[in-house]
Amino acid sequence: MAQVSSEISSNSDENTPFDVSIIGAGPAGLFATYYAGFREMKTVILDALPEAGGQLSVLYPEKTIFDVPGYSEVLARDLVTSLVKQATRYNPLVLLGERVNDLKKGEDGVFTLSTDKRQLKTKSVLITAGVGSFSPNKLNVLNQERYEGNGIYYFVKKKEFFRNKNLLIVGGGDSAADWALNLKDVCTCIVLIHRRDQFRAHEQTVKELYNSPNVTVRTFTELKRVDGDETGLTSAVIFDNRSNMEDTIPVDCILINIGFKANLGPIANWGLAMENRAIKINGRMETNIPGIYAAGDIASPTDSVKLNLITTGFAQAALAINVAKKYVDPKAQLFPGHSSEKSA
Ligand SMILES: Cc1cc2nc3c(=O)[nH]c(=O)nc-3n(C[C@H](O)[C@H](O)[C@H](O)COP(=O)(O)OP(=O)(O)OC[C@H]3O[C@@H](n4cnc5c(N)ncnc54)[C@H](O)[C@@H]3O)c2cc1C
Repeated sequence: MAQVSSEISSNSDENTPFDVSIIGAGPAGLFATYYAGFREMKTVILDALPEAGGQLSVLYPEKTIFDVPGYSEVLARDLVTSLVKQATRYNPLVLLGERVNDLKKGEDGVFTLSTDKRQLKTKSVLITAGVGSFSPNKLNVLNQERYEGNGIYYFVKKKEFFRNKNLLIVGGGDSAADWALNLKDVCTCIVLIHRRDQFRAHEQTVKELYNSPNVTVRTFTELKRVDGDETGLTSAVIFDNRSNMEDTIPVDCILINIGFKANLGPIANWGLAMENRAIKINGRMETNIPGIYAAGDIASPTDSVKLNLITTGFAQAALAINVAKKYVDPKAQLFPGHSSEKSA
């Protein structure tokens, strides 16, 4: 997993204001951090999660991405590793595990940004907070709490963790179906249960699931309870929601993939003009508050289309940082020059 230590400091004197604070270390925020360093801006990047990468690290680290320029294909986690390397080239301050709770502009035009742990002064802000902080939807089944994190999981961080395990997957969407296919050669056996017979997952993926010898798909089936011993899970009771017939199956792990709740959290209270849970931006990535910019999934361009893709965020991040550079230092050029002409 792409890890950066929770604090990397070199240009980290917190007493003088940062030129730019980047809120959210997903792909857009990481690329923005590289760009801010390239523009010689004093930079801090913060993320509520304990690791960088945003959705790529949390939701699909082991999936292959095919639409990032320059990579014909790349594992999400490998892309994050490269982005982190690129982002830290100019030694920004990196603060992970710190949610930004409050953002206020002072009379002198300098912003104060507050996390649970500190306050920082900054001349400009780039919000790359994606869909906000997200948490997985949970089931409410008997004994669940006892095995959360010790048998019951919501994310796949490492496929190898599931090697030779009997895995129960709950869900009928893309995540559940994709993980069943991705893990079918790693696990001893997989049972996928879904409460309906209609899948939200892609039709072709569902077809592949039904044709996979070590995956059993059971529709109209729900989880009732889990049981185990001090070492972890040993079995799960599932039931047919039409007949209420129960079945006890041996399981070592359960992967619950029934969606996520995205929560914009404090961002909605910062006085920013919003549209459908996203921050309105113009073609210069400016929000309604001078000095605050937005890029990536959190941004809603008023005069362009909204495409929640990694490449869209990269381009918006580069635009936002160059515009922010000129805001912070009006004598600076908007055009950054060519990175290929800068000495390493
Ligand atoms: C299953 C799946 C597959 C996908 N596949 C592709 C693909 O193949 N190609 C593609 O282009 N796109 C794909 N996407 C979409 C892509 O992942 C997103 O467009 C991208 O992650 C958006 O990047 P971002 O940096 O804007 O936000 P995010 O990746 O969402 O990162 C935002 C970060 O901000 C942090 N944050 C939020 N609020 C705060 C706060 N108050 N304080 C501090 N930190 C905060 C969050 O913790 C998070 O880490 C996929 C998405 C999913 C779910």
